[in-house]
Amino acid sequence: MQYFSTRGHSSRLDSAEAILKGLAPDGGLFVPESLPQIDKKFITALQPLSYEERAEKVLGLFLTDYTADELRGCVARAYGGGKFDSERRAPVVTLSDASVLELWHGPTSAFKDMALQLLPQLMQTALQKTGVTDTVLILVATSGDTGKAALEGFRDVPQTKIMVFYPEGGVSRIQRLQMCTQEGANVNVTAVKGNFDDAQSGVKEIFGDEAFNGELQAASVRLSSANSINWGRLVPQIVYYFSAYADLVHAGTIALGEEINCTVPTGNFGDILAGFYARQMGLPIHHLVCASNANNVLTEFLRTGVYNRQRTFYKTITPSMDILISSNLERLLYHMTGSTGRVAEWMQQLQDDGCYTIGSELLSEIQRVFWADWVDDAQTKATICDVYEKEHYVCDPHTAVAYAVARRYQQETGDTRHMVVASTASPYKFNGSVLEALGAEYKGLDEFALLAKLAEYNDNPVPGGLAALARKEIRHQDVCGKADMRQAVLTFARQ
Ligand SMILES: *Cc1c(COP(=O)(O)O)cnc(C)c1O
Repeated sequence: MQYFSTRGHSSRLDSAEAILKGLAPDGGLFVPESLPQIDKKFITALQPLSYEERAEKVLGLFLTDYTADELRGCVARAYGGGKFDSERRAPVVTLSDASVLELWHGPTSAFKDMALQLLPQLMQTALQKTGVTDTVLILVATSGDTGKAALEGFRDVPQTKIMVFYPEGGVSRIQRLQMCTQEGANVNVTAVKGNFDDAQSGVKEIFGDEAFNGELQAASVRLSSANSINWGRLVPQIVYYFSAYADLVHAGTIALGEEINCTVPTGNFGDILAGFYARQMGLPIHHLVCASNANNVLTEFLRTGVYNRQRTFYKTITPSMDILISSNLERLLYHMTGSTGRVAEWMQQLQDDGCYTIGSELLSEIQRVFWADWVDDAQTKATICDVYEKEHYVCDPHTAVAYAVARRYQQETGDTRHMVVASTASPYKFNGSVLEALGAEYKGLDEFALLAKLAEYNDNPVPGGLAALARKEIRHQDVCGKADMRQAVLTFARQ
């Protein structure tokens, strides 16, 4: 299986090379040349398997240049070793009107772990396979969750280093503690004086600075990124759609071959795109429902065919979905239009005018697969409360956005197919908003008291990684100005 760019056909690469490159040279994203097809037997065969074994089967269809042994090793290091607090890794919990696919049992209690545990393993194996002897230095600017998940994924992975910049004062206390106590011999965490945009534009400038990259090259270091445009971060996400379906059949909730719907709380369009890949491969998914918060650029796009990023940016209680440019949408557009060159045109328009329009024919094709809606913070909180009262289930705000939109889909369409809601964060990561939604007394409590308070409502205990933070030693206290970020990178690269 080879990979090429969404913006042209120039370079066809094996998956290992595509994963090392991240972004295609023409600015596009790598996509597989074709989508492998599965049948009912494939799903039946998955049922008795562990998550790791299921992952090996699904990944093997896409990463054909990796041997079965290599994939088995990558998957074991990613999901094994006691790092996940559920034996099933991504368990499905069935409530009265939907099933919840819990994607947050990894080491940082965030759905990002599902992909960021595996990406470093795929990268390191790719380095070995392609004979690259340089060290890969991963640079991340984070407003919270991604930084910690990337640190945990890359920690002590041979031939890699990871450096995370976060805005000083711009992340929650738990998030800061999670990062500043990070262990591992190849990690660096540095606060930037400024806001998230300062940290992010600083990192972008470093990636684009050829002279600086030359200096790093002299120290046998090359830069790379861990964001969700990398194929190695997307492909792990296809696995859990198959795993969830196999679990639902196994539990007798659905019959083999029966169609389901999936609702996904969406930001960068990576999670839901993985569902699209699973569907196109033959997994019986009828509709993919795209759930957004007040930053509803995707709702508008999937309803009208107009993508317009020129709009007010809202800070919501679902920060991981506060996004106006959903990078992975480019991959969907590519798969719907093929190599007609239209994707490159739209992306150029987005860059120049902040807006593009896809036309009614393509829109109706997309609408055969996708349905979309959004909810505001008040509705999100009301849903947390309602799901708790009706189902005795505590969900985080991102999951609640999806839950609310899933119910709307069911009401408005009358579609009674079984609904799977993707749950992307542990409620303990957003304990303030969740406790407020539940009507609890929480004002004045510190972060650790909030965890204990939420545990009174939740059948799941406080995740070990969060509970342990209270006792962990602070290992990273560096602070730098935006202008000093280059020097900080160079110093760490040469260590
Ligand atoms: C990243 C994230 C999302 C959005 O996922 P995308 O793949 O970017 O669409 C939703 N919820 C949580 C908690 C996240 O961390």
